[in-house]
Amino acid sequence: MIQTTNDSSWQEILAGTIKNTEELCRRLDLKQDALPADHPLLKNFPVRVPAPFLARMEIGNPNDPLLLQVFPGAAEANSTPGFINDPLEESNANPHPGILHKYKGRALLLVTSSCAIHCRYCFRRHFPYADNLPGRQHWRESLDYIANDTSLSEIIFSGGDPLTLPDAYLGWFIEELSRFDHIKRIRLHTRLPIMIPQRITESLCELLANPRFQTILVLHSNHPGEFDVEVDEACQKLSQAGVCLLNQSVLLKGINDSPATLAALSERLFSAGVLPYYLHLLDRVIGAAHFEVNEKDASVLMKKLQATLPGYLVPKLVREIPGEAAKTLAV
Ligand code: SF4
Repeated sequence: MIQTTNDSSWQEILAGTIKNTEELCRRLDLKQDALPADHPLLKNFPVRVPAPFLARMEIGNPNDPLLLQVFPGAAEANSTPGFINDPLEESNANPHPGILHKYKGRALLLVTSSCAIHCRYCFRRHFPYADNLPGRQHWRESLDYIANDTSLSEIIFSGGDPLTLPDAYLGWFIEELSRFDHIKRIRLHTRLPIMIPQRITESLCELLANPRFQTILVLHSNHPGEFDVEVDEACQKLSQAGVCLLNQSVLLKGINDSPATLAALSERLFSAGVLPYYLHLLDRVIGAAHFEVNEKDASVLMKKLQATLPGYLVPKLVREIPGEAAKTLAV
């Protein structure tokens, strides 16, 4: 295992993420075929791995399930029919820069394009962030969209990863939203408590404990090996701040597509105080075809999972269908 310094600030760890394949292989003592550094898929969506996540990978193991989520293998370059740039057709649900309105009663705020990690299966890996991130001075009209739509009761902070933003900027969004009486809940979709658990500071917890809102944080963990003591502590701090913790995973070939791994993930999540919520079928984005598990195999897997776990530990298998007002149950 690779050691990390536990007392670095989350900003230092974020700034120090590994940003190229050579460095990743060197740190893990691997010699791997990968996409060439000048391949457009890698230039547009480079490697990104933070040290705490790297520290949970096994040195010398090219099939480590955490590594496979971030390693840009040559398979990314295969062209596969049906895999496209915008598989969820989000460009049709983008009424103002920074706003996605896909679901009934809920809207997404795309508050940043940055992530602590680049997941090679990410459905937003080709998202046109440059056209979609208003500068702070231009957020007013996007926020007016939320103010004027009283059918909205929940705002989902998304991106990118919203917890890569400094507290002051996050706090500004929360403060703005608190002026709209119809907004009852805020939800954050984030991998930071897993990737850089140091991000869960006291000041962040104070921010999220705002009594004006019910606050939900949806982690994105795909494998039980992503958890360690520091992640447990981060989850505990969030729970103590009154934040409701849920998890969503993506079903990924070679990473978590076995009943034993998914059962272990559910057990591990619950021991950290997190409820398994969704298991997503892969969104068919260019570069990610090698991760796909077909619906028939996924359904067999779910039946085995249901036979293993109590119902509250079985996530719902879902897929997102463009234009639908909510996720669609796959079984
Ligand atoms: S953290 Fe989320 S938004 Fe960022 S690359 Fe991974 S899946 Fe995509």
